[in-house]
Amino acid sequence: MKEEKHCSQCGGTLSGRSDKRFCSNQCRAQAHNAKRQQNEGEQLMVRINATLRRNRTILRQASPQGKTTIYRQVLEMAGLDFRYFTHLYRTKTGNTYHFCYDYGYLLLPEEKVLIVNWQPYMEK
Ligand SMILES: [Zn+2]
Repeated sequence: MKEEKHCSQCGGTLSGRSDKRFCSNQCRAQAHNAKRQQNEGEQLMVRINATLRRNRTILRQASPQGKTTIYRQVLEMAGLDFRYFTHLYRTKTGNTYHFCYDYGYLLLPEEKVLIVNWQPYMEK
């Protein structure tokens, strides 16, 4: 019995050559674009994950004890990318800490930064 083949994109029945994967050039192009978009998304995630890890390493090295005030420029020169962080923590007094996993920072006046460690009470 001959098995019926289907288009990988739209699921429509394939006729003719048995090595065909798509029913039309349109489906082939759609599948190609979807694959490219998926690859671009995965590359973006890999890049951002690497940036987040680098940010955490820089914060940890700048503040081994988990609480340090430092000039923002020092972190920038070490390669910290301030655009990327994993989450925010807002204090009751209205300060917003940016965290890269378990290391966070608060931007202070005069271009300074306070680096802190994640604390269990921040979970709420
Ligand atoms: Zn198709």
